[in-house]
Amino acid sequence: MAISTDQIVMELKKSKTSNANQALALDQVNHTVNLNHLISALQTTINLDELLPIFSTELSNLVDHSGLTFEHDDLNIQTQHGRRTNHTCEYSLSIENTILGKLTIMRRKRFNEKELETIENCLSALLHPLKNTLLYRQAIQSAHTDPLTGVLNRSTLQSVFQKETSLTKRHHSDLTMVMLDIDFFKAVNDNYGHTAGDMALKELTACIEHTARESDHVFRLGGEEFAILLNSTDLKGATLLAERLRKAVQEIHMQHADNEFGFTVSMGVTKYSENETLEVMMTRADKALYEAKESGRNKVVAT
Ligand code: GH3
Ligand code: MG
Ligand code: MG
Repeated sequence: MAISTDQIVMELKKSKTSNANQALALDQVNHTVNLNHLISALQTTINLDELLPIFSTELSNLVDHSGLTFEHDDLNIQTQHGRRTNHTCEYSLSIENTILGKLTIMRRKRFNEKELETIENCLSALLHPLKNTLLYRQAIQSAHTDPLTGVLNRSTLQSVFQKETSLTKRHHSDLTMVMLDIDFFKAVNDNYGHTAGDMALKELTACIEHTARESDHVFRLGGEEFAILLNSTDLKGATLLAERLRKAVQEIHMQHADNEFGFTVSMGVTKYSENETLEVMMTRADKALYEAKESGRNKVVAT
């Protein structure tokens, strides 16, 4: 069946009034709708994953719909609540020149003018709470990520390890770690400069992300050292991935200023043993990495 779409793109700008005043002003525009309940409900959370279902539930008291989707490209957010259906109305939301994302409301039959007006009134109450949840999410995200490469930072490793080991136990599956270090990275900085070194770190990160699966977790442990946690992967699988990655890195051609250069990486691979600590697992991976370095670099050693 062809999907017909009622597409409305609208920019909702911030009103200078407080939420209460805003509700009053909106009631004057649309006498039949009282937004106070919606506004109070939206103030109960700072979490986007809770805010959107609350908005959808509250909106359904005023306008019947099957679900909604929300997208924010910069923050890499794509979420859906409820069911996807044929008719959609789509809003690009922004406040004070800050893009808040695209919200799409869905249902089986067309929205009429009156319903669209009600939706738009409800959306104006969503703007401030949505902005706050996005700021909160951004703060959490930056506390967990390395600013240069965008991958997870070392301080996040413990909590991810805890989560993954409990899933591994429950599913009786395997968890493995690849520890990686760039070979002779000091020479890259010495020969081509720190900026070129930073570019290499970013390029390496992109290469790891291309090579690894979506479910793998990539961490920058510090400097030019990275760890990858692979769930549902045994030692053989992790070693194959490491070998693929080693070859892919070897193919990278960097260009900076008038210089062209490449680099290689060494890796240590190990499997999680039940009930061991992160420290014990990392010490083993580190030892394998050391062996890879000692045996000539550009190598993978599994232990
Ligand atoms: P090995 O093969 O034994 O690992 O040798 P290496 O030169 O890679 O190791 P070493 O520990 O001697 O040097 C690491 C270098 O990494 C030193 C430092 O200049 C560089 N480095 C660490 N962090 C960064 C960073 O954030 N940016 C850049 N450009 N360089 C960094
Ligand atoms: Mg190194
Ligand atoms: Mg190092």
